[in-house]
Formats: sequence, C-alpha cells, structure tokens
Amino acid sequence: VATVIDGKVVAKQIREEISVEISRMKEQIGTAPGLAVILVGARKDSQTYVRNKKKACEAVGITSFEINLPEDCTEEQVIKHIDTFNSDPSVHGILIQLPLPRHLNEEKILNAVTIEKDVDGFHPLNIGRLMMQGRKPLFVPCTPKGCMELLHRHKVQIKGKRAVVIGRSNIVGMPVALLLQEENATVSIVHSHTKNPEEITRQADIVISAAGVANLVRGNWIKSGAVVIDVGINPVDDSENARGYKLVGDVCYEEVCKKASAITPVPGGVGPMTIAMLLSNTLLSAKRFHKLSN
Ligand code: NAD
Repeated sequence: VATVIDGKVVAKQIREEISVEISRMKEQIGTAPGLAVILVGARKDSQTYVRNKKKACEAVGITSFEINLPEDCTEEQVIKHIDTFNSDPSVHGILIQLPLPRHLNEEKILNAVTIEKDVDGFHPLNIGRLMMQGRKPLFVPCTPKGCMELLHRHKVQIKGKRAVVIGRSNIVGMPVALLLQEENATVSIVHSHTKNPEEITRQADIVISAAGVANLVRGNWIKSGAVVIDVGINPVDDSENARGYKLVGDVCYEEVCKKASAITPVPGGVGPMTIAMLLSNTLLSAKRFHKLSN
C-alpha cells in the first residue's frame, strides 16, 4: 500500500520556515514582505480564495493589501491599481484573482504586473523563461512549484525517470511538465485528445494528474511502485455530506493506492501547497528587493 504524501504536513512545515525567515527579516531591516491582491467582481469562490490567502499571509507575517473593484470596472482602472502597486516599495507580490469578468482582457492585465512582482508566475515572460533551458523564471507558478516541492521533500528521484503529466493547462499541466523536464525526467503529456492514455501513463515512474476529471486515473493506469501526485479538485454528488457534494481528485484513490509507492490525497495533498508556495514566492521577492541572500 502506498505511502501517503501529506500536503498539509509539508505545507505547515514550509509556513513555519517562512515565518522564521520573516521574523529574522524584520529584525534585520525592520520591514516585512507585502502581498497585494486585486479582486474584480463578487464571485463567492474568488472571495473565499482571497480571504484564505490573506489569512495565510497574516499567519506568517506578510503584510497584505487588498483592492476590491466592481464587476463593471474598466481595464484602465485595474491597470491603474496594478501600476500603483508596481511602484510601491512595500509591495513585493501582486496577484490578480482569476477568473476576471469576461469584458476584461486577461492577458493585457497580467502583462501589466511587473515581472519582479509576478509571484503567481503567470507573466508571459516568466512562462517563456520556464521554456528555455537554463533560463530560470523569476517565479515558478504556485501549484506546479507545490507539486515539485512534494516530490523533493519526499526524496523522489526525478533525474532519468519517466514522468507523465495528465493535462496541459497554462497554470498547471504545462508548467509542471517543463519543471520535470528541467530536472531531467523524460516527460510525456497526456491530454483530452490522447489515444490510449492508460498505456502511456502505465510507463510512468511519476504521474502528475491535472485534468479536472473525477476518477479518471484507474488502478490499471499505474505501474507498480509509481509515485502519483493528484492535482485535481472535482466536486461529486454526495448525499451524506451536508453540502450535497464532496471534493475528489482525478485519481481513483482506492485502486491506485494499491499500486503506487506514494500518493497524495485529495483534499490534503497539493491543495495546501499552493498557498504555501505563494507565501514562499512573496518572501523570495522581498529578499530580492532588499538584496538579502537566500
Ligand atoms: P483546465 O481545465 O484548464 O485543464 C485541464 C487539462 O486536462 C486540459 O489540458 C485537457 O486537455 C486535459 N484533460 C481534460 N480531460 C481529459 C481527459 N479525459 N484525459 C486526459 N486529459 C484531459 O484545468 P486546470 O486549471 O489545469 O486544473 C486541473 C484540475 O486541477 C482541476 O480539477 C482544478 O480544480 C485543479 N487545480 C487544483 C489546484 C490546487 O491547488 N490543488 C490548483 C489549480 C487547479
């Protein structure tokens, strides 16, 4: 039976490490890292994410700044706020909560964030650098970075191994595939048009699934002893739950945990790592700004 890779435990450890570093920074230079979040509109899920990020910041000593703009605001208004944060020395990370309302040009808005404060790692220049061998991006997107951190902290060998990434989105699948390749894995990407995905996935020593399809990855997709990281967060009906649904990953956990050597649960796997990596990127940015060593 697979070892459980507990994202809650790892994320807590990382938050503690960050907290210690920030206390030291405050003692040394009398200032803390700052993270600014811009939320447009009133989506309930986005509000919850922003609230959680703010709480997580406060818990480790990061100062948080928040701007709430109305649903019908203009691109120019959003960019004006971004510009203000771009030139504010107490802000080291700027985050645009996605999705934006349809009338706003997401690419143009993400482009307006200065690359030095792009702690989400979504700026095209940061994504571009991820593509180039030996050219490190200033920031690695948080969820992919969280997946890699789980592999590193569990001492999973990556170099020379076969990895399969299921999904190729800009925010998870594609960047995590590039990161695995950067660490010398041989990487295949499986997506919605792939024929025989199970055959390809069965060759992998490391499987990272980010398809957003409940129970996609079955036991017979997995080579015995593989390490499985499940990024998916999918609601499925559950009459026993007060909300009427529960959240599951892409991986059929019951089947796969009998084949894999290690596996992340959902919830409690990659999820908690994403916010921890946002805090880590914000600290990294502040250290760069103040020219403190890593
Ligand atoms: P997305 O919808 O943008 O991309 C999904 C990708 O999966 C696409 O590239 C598509 O080609 C591929 N795909 C879809 N169906 C497939 C199938 N049947 N077989 C193979 N490939 C298939 O989604 P996303 O934003 O990348 O998110 C993926 C999942 O990860 C979602 O469940 C999302 O909720 C979750 N997620 C979790 C975190 C976290 O912090 N844990 C962060 C971001 C996303």
